[in-house]
This record gives sequence, C-alpha cells and structure tokens, in this order.
Amino acid sequence: MKVTVFGSGYVGLATGACLADAGNQVVCVDVDEDKIALLNDGGMPIYEPGLDAIVAGSREAGRLSFTTDIAQGVDHGEVLFIAVGTPPDENGSADLKYVLSVAHSIGQHLNGFRVIADKSTVPVGTADLVAAAVTEELVTRGFAADPEERIRLGQPDFTVVSNPEFLKEGAAVADFSRPDRIVIGADNTTSGRRGLELMRYLYAPFTLNRDRTMVMDVRSAELTKYAANAMLATRISFMNELANLAEDLGADIELVRRGIGSDPRIGYSFLYAGTGYGGSCFPKDVSALRRSAAEHGRSLRILEAVEDANTAQKEVLGRKIRGRFGDDLSGLTFAVWGLAFKPNTDDMRDAPSRVLIADLIGRGARVRAFDPVAMEEARRVLALDLDGAHDALTFAGSANEAVEGADALVIVTEWKAFRAPDFSVLATRLTKKAIFDG
Ligand code: NAD
Repeated sequence: MKVTVFGSGYVGLATGACLADAGNQVVCVDVDEDKIALLNDGGMPIYEPGLDAIVAGSREAGRLSFTTDIAQGVDHGEVLFIAVGTPPDENGSADLKYVLSVAHSIGQHLNGFRVIADKSTVPVGTADLVAAAVTEELVTRGFAADPEERIRLGQPDFTVVSNPEFLKEGAAVADFSRPDRIVIGADNTTSGRRGLELMRYLYAPFTLNRDRTMVMDVRSAELTKYAANAMLATRISFMNELANLAEDLGADIELVRRGIGSDPRIGYSFLYAGTGYGGSCFPKDVSALRRSAAEHGRSLRILEAVEDANTAQKEVLGRKIRGRFGDDLSGLTFAVWGLAFKPNTDDMRDAPSRVLIADLIGRGARVRAFDPVAMEEARRVLALDLDGAHDALTFAGSANEAVEGADALVIVTEWKAFRAPDFSVLATRLTKKAIFDG
C-alpha cells in the first residue's frame, strides 16, 4: 500500500520504517528541514535499536523516502498517519496545534479518498477536531461539507480513524513488528467502514501469527491509549511508594516484587521501583488525562497521587546524597551513570537525571556524567537546564572515566552495561567510596 506518515520522530520514523520494511511504499513528511536533510543523507536523528538498519534497507529498496513537501505527502498515501508531537500546554492538556496543523494541510491538498489515522496520543474527541479541520479546508475549496454529499458528487473524501501507538522507546521496531494489539477506532459510516478495511489490510502482515486487531469506536480507541499509560504510571508510583516504606521497615522491595509478581493478576512486568518515571509520554499523558477528566467535572484522584508520588520520587536520590554528605555539596564531585530517561534510548525528555544533576550542581557539587548513547542530547538539554552553571558539569567518554577522581557514584538509568561493575575499580577510584543506586 501507499502510506504517508506526518512527523518523523520516535513514533513516526519507526512506523514509516516498519511499514516500508513490510513492503509498503512509504513517504515520511516532517516540517523539520534539518531532520529530513539528515535522513536523506542516510543519517539518523534518534537512537532506536535496529531502526537504522531497516531505514537504510527500505531507502535503498526505494520503499521509503523523506520530504518536507506536504502536498506530495497528501497525494502519495492511501493512509495518512498523523504522528506529530502532542506536548503538554500550560494547563497540562495535550497541545493539539501540531496535529491540527497537519489536518489543515491535508484538507488543503486532499484530492481523492484518504484514511487519516491519528497515531499521536490525543484526547478523546480529537478525531472530531481533525475531521472538522479537514472539512473546513474542503469547504474553503468549494467542496461539500457533508461526507455523503461529497461521495455522491465524487468529491475528495476522507475518514478519520484512531490508531494509537503502544510501542516502547528502546524496543520500537520489535514492538511495532510484533504488536501486543493493534487498536483501530473507526466510525460506523460508509467512509469509516472503508477506512477500517484499509487499516486491517495495512496491518495484516503484522498479525499473521494471530489476529490482534481490536476494532472499536473512535472515542474508546482514543481513551485506551491514555488508560494504558495511566495504568503503567500507576504501577511505577505504587512500587516507588512501597519501596520507600520497605526501606523504613527494613524490608527488600525486590523480594516483595517477586512475591507479588507471582500472582498472575499482578504479574512481574513493569513493577520496578526506581528514580520515578520520565520520558515524553507518561508525565504528559497522565497530566492530559487528568485535565480531560477535570473538563468533565471529574477528579481522577488516583492519578493525582501517582503524579505527586512521581515528583517526590525524583528527589529521592538527591535526598539520600544529602543524608550522607549534608546540604552543602561544594568541593564534592559526583559521577553520574545513565542520563536518558530509560535504557536503550537517547530521549532526555523529563529524565530524572535532569532533576538530580540540577540539584547537585545547585548545591555546589561538580558532576562527571556518562550515558552509553544519550550524550549528545544530554549536552543539549542540560546546557539549557543549567543555564550558565554548566561549567560544573563535564561529560566522560566512558563509565570508568566518569568515576575517575569522583567522590561518589550515582546510577540513574539502568543500562545493561552498569549491571555488573568492577567494584574493586570503583573502590579505588571513588574517594568517598559511596554508590547511590537509583
Ligand atoms: P517527536 O517529538 O519525537 O516527533 C514529532 C515530530 O513531528 C517532530 O519531528 C516534528 O518536527 C514533527 N512535526 C511537528 N509538526 C509537524 C507537521 N505539521 N508536519 C509534519 N511533521 C511535524 O514525538 P514522538 O515521541 O514520536 O511522539 C509523537 C506522538 O506519538 C505523541 O503524541 C506521543 O505521545 C505519541 N507516542 C509516543 C511514543 C514514544 O515512545 N515516543 C509512544 C507512543 C505514542
């Protein structure tokens, strides 16, 4: 099939590349000219395991191309995916300006029937807003506002389906290629049924083993994505609060985790205590869901607690460090291992390392930081976070180099490479012989 993906970030690029890898003709459109130029030169704007190989393979095979030309993108795809960012706006809602900008562009260029698939994480009701934006542009171009009328007159037509994405950064290719489920929310209208059929056809190669497609109405599909992320964030905050209590009580949260994970109703996955959740999804999605609820006069009290617990958890490592060294950390150097918000990604959005590093440096400490892949992105965002105070931060070329001359080590992100450190080396290098393990 011919497919266009608007937005070439973590989700858009993975979606486009995996669909091209399965044999589809894919055009990826982005407004970021540097990103498109880099992709056209064979470079990768993000780190995602395995993605570079399938991008390169599909480009060479002529099935994947990159452009900033929106009209070309609209013209090309039978399915037009919207996979642009939905960052939080100032009141915590999802900011839909990028999504609606794509919708308007589609309406300005639409010349036949297209399925518009919302892949961005968007609040319930967004598909209606996308449809309204496209319709507005069609009407400006002299076409009918009513879909049935457009079909009768042979005018450009479309349907908006919700197709939320559940891939995990760090495992995007595997998750997209072997999904747990493919959620498709479609209207029960002539265009909606046609859209659903095309989406099923597009995803068929990914569900050969057994059909994992879940068809539902559009609103339920939109809510499913938020419900999934809110539930996962809840598990993390629950375990973090229990971990803090376990420490007070002299219990080991890891043993407790195994004890409860053995119950199939609970399960072992995604039950780890740590430095709090970060990244581009959980914080903004929990906040956006709470905001949607508030707009309907509802308070999601559990999610309020989940957010509060997470904010507090990001302070825990800093508090432990102060407990050992006092409030004034001047004269001390901390090695920090792991900067990305989780392993196997270079994504620094809302990473707990940022809170910790700002706290340490604010208290007079020096930091020697290392991450296996996020160094470039970390340099960029930490320079902005520290706003002039970044002389106190240096980046090391390896984990061992980071601990050279440091007083203590803080492990923030659980990269595999940090799982079995040589403790005898650490003992000789860390002058205060202290490790804070997040
Ligand atoms: P991202 O910031 O990595 O990428 C978004 C891209 O969209 C950027 O390259 C930006 O330049 C581009 N863009 C903005 N406006 C555009 C326009 N008008 N036309 C074309 N391109 C445009 O974002 P992401 O992490 O890929 O997330 C995208 C969406 O997917 C969000 O709604 C997010 O919540 C959701 N999501 C993300 C993940 C994840 O793990 N990152 C997982 C599931 C769902």
